[in-house]
Amino acid sequence: STTMQRDQKQNDLSLLGGLLVSGFKKDSCLSRYQSHLYRKASPHKPSLHLLSKLRAYEELHKRCGPGTRPYTNAERLLKPKQTGDDDDSESQGCKYVVWMEFSGLGNRIISIASAFLYAMLTDRVLLVEGGEQLDDLFCEPFLDTTWLLPKDFTLTHQFNGFGQDSAQCHGDMLKRKLINESSVSSLSHLYLHLAHDYNEHDKMFFCGEDQSLLKNVPWLIMRTNNFFAPSLFLIPSFQEELGSMFPDKGTVFHHLGRYLFHPSNHVWGLITRYYQAYLAKADERIGLQIRVFDEKSGVSPQVTKQIVSCVQNEELLPKLSKSREQQKQPSEEEEVKLKAVLVTSLTTGCFEILKTMYWETPTVTRDVVAIHQPSHEGHQQTEKLMHNRKAWAEMYLLSLTDKLVISAWSTFGYVAQGLGGSRAWILYKQENQTALNPPCGRAMSSDPCFHAPPYYDCKAKQGTDTGNVVPHVRHCEDISWGLKLV
Ligand code: GDP
Repeated sequence: STTMQRDQKQNDLSLLGGLLVSGFKKDSCLSRYQSHLYRKASPHKPSLHLLSKLRAYEELHKRCGPGTRPYTNAERLLKPKQTGDDDDSESQGCKYVVWMEFSGLGNRIISIASAFLYAMLTDRVLLVEGGEQLDDLFCEPFLDTTWLLPKDFTLTHQFNGFGQDSAQCHGDMLKRKLINESSVSSLSHLYLHLAHDYNEHDKMFFCGEDQSLLKNVPWLIMRTNNFFAPSLFLIPSFQEELGSMFPDKGTVFHHLGRYLFHPSNHVWGLITRYYQAYLAKADERIGLQIRVFDEKSGVSPQVTKQIVSCVQNEELLPKLSKSREQQKQPSEEEEVKLKAVLVTSLTTGCFEILKTMYWETPTVTRDVVAIHQPSHEGHQQTEKLMHNRKAWAEMYLLSLTDKLVISAWSTFGYVAQGLGGSRAWILYKQENQTALNPPCGRAMSSDPCFHAPPYYDCKAKQGTDTGNVVPHVRHCEDISWGLKLV
């Protein structure tokens, strides 16, 4: 009947075309069921192969996740052997990748998505460290189990000591030639250092040979703040699988991000209240993410100029009228469009300038422009709960806009762009004080940039430009040495 068809359609919409499964308690995570009321349907359809990989992953996580027998057995491998232990520590084929808490929220989100992709490719279960923070910001993505690393995890108290020169570090062991077929078979865990400051040995993670060595290590503990998916596409043993999962290459974060990151009810309240108050009634919504990495200088007059010329040249916002002629009031029949701009920034300088500009002077199109900024937190305060809730709410709100401008280098902006799924305008980074021309440019895809990719040809064992190997892994628009999927 038609009601059934309507219900079916409603269901399909809220489950994002099969990306999500039903069965979660609605009240425990409102955003999971309500996001489609706030954002347009995705321009990208997840492939059937991705959907079946996700369903298989969910089964694996349920079978091996915390609280299960295989989990307990696998964890026992990490403890010193007691004499008299009967050796039934069979982990039943369950292997794990643990993501360690690290860095700002945008960095966390894109690196967790990369770790999840890696987990799917290697049949591992992803567990994330991050206790109350993560739990407060996001809903549980996996049905009937948990992605949170249990607080009493055997190695937790060693995490602080894990570093590039610690005994169990993959890169350091390579350097000391301690890693080979026979030595890895006895390892219960390895630490993978994949953060921005990793060295040439750590980077061997991205070689096929090392991947086959890592295959049977039950626990991989990973510290990363990067979106390293582009380099996984260059590992031969993953290529076929990745090609079927993502026939549209530059949509990896878009799909995995929408699958994994559902704002908790607290954050969903921040998002929906703000949206209804300031954005819902507009004819067009424009997002403007302003990120200045030098906190002392703040948003300089040059950067403000750059932003204004970007939004006006690219016709994201109308120019201001100059002549008296145009300053006449619009007649009553003339339809005035409302453009709402959502500005996110740690400070308010640029917001004040834009707001005053569009208040004092009419626009050439006669459209009215409303400028809104939810918060101005001053500086990064990753340890504070409410600060992070706001940061997450703002990334999400930006992702709901019709057109988006983001700042070069910023993972905060990448998350907004990726969840939204469209190509943003990127404000190029000003290296010196000269005006940039052009001030901004269109992104090639909605995926984040991998800021610190390896430059190594694993087969030839020599340096190479990894942005030149396959057509879908290229250098980023905003960081010339970075890599992104397009
Ligand atoms: P990135 O440093 O721009 O790559 O992004 P991260 O999210 O990893 O780290 C920056 C952190 O600074 C954020 O997580 C927030 O804590 C804070 N922050 C930066 N820009 C904003 C903003 O526009 N709004 C809010 N609320 N917080 C911000």
